[in-house]
Amino acid sequence: MSDGIFLDARKRLDAALQHVRLSPDTVERLHYPKSVLKVSVPVRMDNGALKIFPGYRVRYDDTRGPAKGGIRYHPNVSPDEVTSLAFWMTFKCAVLNLPFGGGKGGITVNPKALSRTELERLSRGYIDAVADFIGPDIDIPAPDVYTNQMIMGWMMDQYSIIKRRITPAVITGKPLSMGGSLGRETATAKGAYHAIRVMMKRKNRDLKDLRVAIQGFGNAGAELAEMLFNDGCTIVAVSDSRGGIFKQDGLHIPTVRQRKKATQKLEALYADGSVLESQDHDRITNEELLELDVDLLIPAALEGVITEHNAGRIKARTIIEVANGPTTGAAEAILAEKGIDVLPDILANAGGVTVSYFEWVQNRQGMYWTEEEVAQRLEQRMVTETECVLALAEEKGVTLRLAAYIHALHRLEDASASRGTEDYFRRRA
Ligand code: NAD
Repeated sequence: MSDGIFLDARKRLDAALQHVRLSPDTVERLHYPKSVLKVSVPVRMDNGALKIFPGYRVRYDDTRGPAKGGIRYHPNVSPDEVTSLAFWMTFKCAVLNLPFGGGKGGITVNPKALSRTELERLSRGYIDAVADFIGPDIDIPAPDVYTNQMIMGWMMDQYSIIKRRITPAVITGKPLSMGGSLGRETATAKGAYHAIRVMMKRKNRDLKDLRVAIQGFGNAGAELAEMLFNDGCTIVAVSDSRGGIFKQDGLHIPTVRQRKKATQKLEALYADGSVLESQDHDRITNEELLELDVDLLIPAALEGVITEHNAGRIKARTIIEVANGPTTGAAEAILAEKGIDVLPDILANAGGVTVSYFEWVQNRQGMYWTEEEVAQRLEQRMVTETECVLALAEEKGVTLRLAAYIHALHRLEDASASRGTEDYFRRRA
């Protein structure tokens, strides 16, 4: 993400504010993060040297509840990026009606260059630095890019050591053995799948008639590809960071997954002895994939892939934003002009944070749900909120993204108003 992404994010807020009447206080508040914490995380490297890594935790807004959002480990992590991600979390939690505000954290680091023990010291060091700013009722982190269950387990352990009490609800996305939730791994894909089903039903489109291209074949993309494949969609193309594969009459997704799992490469489909050797795939680039003539285009990898430079060439009828921030503001105007619907990230990928919320609830009640219970509750929330956003877009004649923001703003305003006027009389605002 480049600097200035927060300004782009705020432009979307300003566009939504044209359609909804909010108190000037709420408007003013929503333009700024509540707090931006910068810390220096010292790590004793395996060779004995001390290295310092910059870390951040942003609490964007907590009017609706404690802040919620992941922790990212990446060389490009910057305050601007973390603030934008925390901003999006504020709206994502409000769209899904989760009792959370928005937060996000990160460390500027290339985690692939660290040993496992260095990674553990870094993760524990980060929690040492932010322990007074997070907590089950304050701000609840989770995994994000290049952080995972194992790291969440170390972080929960470190927080519990500092506070001298076992505190599973401080962090979500933990291993099952430490209070994680069943169904978390597939939650983002399942959430997107339910949103797609609701949307296609409204368009009177049968899933069996849909041609789909998916960029990103990781946790979210591959899982969603399989769900759509099982429902009869024709998945014509998938890709990962090394490139993509295309087949006019559809890829056999379970085989693609199996081969990718075995080799870590989609390219392995071309390799000697592959079960698909006889099938004839074409290689395509990630750029070509985005411009395919399909019903659904699903960016499920990176932010900023649909820009003003390629938006004019996009032929998909509908875009489902499984990645966070794949479409820039400038691209969005071009897509709207072409009549391409974009199901926005703050709704399409919200299944993950929804099951994180379920994990937090289970930790606090000490009673754990079955996978079916998790799946059922997730479906109910995704269907309800997607229907609301689609109806609002139709009623107001606005894009789905604007409708999702408006839906979230109503809830944020409601919470703000319910808090009363205490801040008017006291020093705290
Ligand atoms: P992942 O790391 O499991 O998978 C990412 C995939 O993208 C991999 O297949 C990778 O090869 C591919 N990729 C990386 N660079 C690429 C490039 N330049 N071009 C094409 N593909 C590239 O990540 P994930 O958990 O599946 O997340 C994917 C996206 O979904 C991210 O934007 C993430 O923020 C968003 N998201 C994920 C979750 C979740 O719970 N997993 C929740 C909300 C949002």
